[in-house]
Amino acid sequence: MIPRFRPQLGWDELKAAWFKPVAISEFENGFARLMGARNAVAFPYGRTGLALLLEALGIKGKEIICPAYTCVVVPHAVVVSGNEPVFVDSRPEDFNADLDAVEGAINENTGAIIATSIFGYPVDLDRLDDLRRRHPQIAVIQDCAHSFGASWKCRDVVNDGDAAIFGINVSKLITSIFGGMVTTNSDELAQRLRSIRYKRVEPPGYWKPLARKLYLTAVIAAFNPAVYAAVNFLERSGLLDPFVRYYDESLIDMPKDYLIGLTDVEAAVGSVQLGRYHDIIARRRAVAEFYNANLAAIDGIDLPPLVDGATYSHYVIRTPYKARLIKFGLENGVQFGQLIEYCIPEMASYTNRPGARFQYPVSSAMARTTVNLPLSNDSRDDLEKVVRTVKRFCES
Ligand SMILES: *Cc1c(COP(=O)(O)O)cnc(C)c1O
Repeated sequence: MIPRFRPQLGWDELKAAWFKPVAISEFENGFARLMGARNAVAFPYGRTGLALLLEALGIKGKEIICPAYTCVVVPHAVVVSGNEPVFVDSRPEDFNADLDAVEGAINENTGAIIATSIFGYPVDLDRLDDLRRRHPQIAVIQDCAHSFGASWKCRDVVNDGDAAIFGINVSKLITSIFGGMVTTNSDELAQRLRSIRYKRVEPPGYWKPLARKLYLTAVIAAFNPAVYAAVNFLERSGLLDPFVRYYDESLIDMPKDYLIGLTDVEAAVGSVQLGRYHDIIARRRAVAEFYNANLAAIDGIDLPPLVDGATYSHYVIRTPYKARLIKFGLENGVQFGQLIEYCIPEMASYTNRPGARFQYPVSSAMARTTVNLPLSNDSRDDLEKVVRTVKRFCES
């Protein structure tokens, strides 16, 4: 079974986790350096970073504009911070939020815009700058969970706006097991973030680092091909649902430990991963080009765009036969993913909230038609097998 994603974790990460803990501040410094940002502040999850960032920006009781098509933990964090997420539809071209719709959603109660470079496609910074010039009182937060070093016309997405947030769990471009990061070029904002973190986030204590070591060891074992087939069987049977489901359609909530600090074990793993970053991105760009070249002109699927500066956290095709393709893949040894398979303002927990007040035809269609292809660390044989599987499906 070719897995839908495969974290690039090996002995170096395992050794670091068990034997070479790293201070959080050291990981933060390394992260800031890699992203070319002045400051980085670490959190137990990206969503914790977002909630506390809004607090540090003094934003409360405000509307926060975010994409309808993004990870659902983002609006959860907005709600938990005492604000209201307002959703805008996406652009069909590159999956990102439609910035004209963002401008249309702005009113006197707007506190911030969360600009997301979804799947690694850089947000249009020229259009965003234009918005900021006309609405200087509104904060701009870059959600770089999928994009890390993405750039728009050679300008870093990360360093545009007031701050950027990152998720660094095992499904992301690089990982510190769990964890999140906020970067900012404002020393004053970084200082406020650190003092809020000091007040609100508990130290991790004794058990959490041990639990994280065991979790990492289990993840590395689970991605061993033989084990993965078994895990995949368990997942399909529903037995793993309590472990792998990251959201409940009807609830707005945060993980129980979202205010328990990042551990030095996670900082150790994250620090090793920083050194792999450039290889990981180069590899993803090459795979995206390979897929686009080899899947061109097949009836029944639409290919994603290739964009300069994109980081391809996911390689996402669109097909009206999504469910059948996923099933066909599983029967033929290829696990296709479906991230993101929902349009947030259509979810039970959000549909009646004031922020779901617009129309979402593009996001809604994307939720129903997007399928992501395996993209990480797969051999040439694996990639060719994925291509063959998609072709055979489309011919049938
Ligand atoms: C993963 C992710 C986050 C943050 O996730 P955490 O799980 O809270 O670390 C934020 N935005 C997007 C788009 C994501 O995919």
